[in-house]
Amino acid sequence: MQDFINNLPKLAKDKHNENKKFFAKLKKKPPKNLDYVMQELHKKEFKRTDCLECANCCKTTGPLFTDKDIDRVSKHFRMKSQQFISNYLEIDEDNDYVLQSVPCTFLGVDNYCSIYDVRPKACREFPHTDRKKFQQISNLTLKNVAICPAAFNIVEEMKNRIK
Ligand code: SF4
Ligand code: SF4
Repeated sequence: MQDFINNLPKLAKDKHNENKKFFAKLKKKPPKNLDYVMQELHKKEFKRTDCLECANCCKTTGPLFTDKDIDRVSKHFRMKSQQFISNYLEIDEDNDYVLQSVPCTFLGVDNYCSIYDVRPKACREFPHTDRKKFQQISNLTLKNVAICPAAFNIVEEMKNRIK
């Protein structure tokens, strides 16, 4: 797994043009059953990929924190939201709250998330491969395939399935 993760940026770079063309075509004419296909590919992939052996998303890119996330996580720590923000977060160029540093502070050495039950929505949904209207997040997916081995495999499988 680690070799695959280490090679992922290069593999994704090699596939970038092909993926870009594929998503441009998908956006123009998404198949009627795309949501169904994505659910199926997502389920199949995450049966064989164990996030606990990876955690590359938590190690290399942090989530953005919505106001609701901040409220929920600060409550978990019995901390005022403002205190949580000044301890852990900063504002990025898009004006979103993000972690001050990666790997994520809440990631354990065993790859477990110490705030798993209250983790940000973005963490729960990453890599978004089971979301509806998947064609609408193609730019994000083009980036995610360089970080997430599961997303990489899912996009490869999509290209086989959807001609
Ligand atoms: S979501 Fe992707 S990058 Fe994150 S731990 Fe799972 S396989 Fe790895
Ligand atoms: S909050 Fe948890 S799931 Fe989200 S990036 Fe940090 S360790 Fe990973």
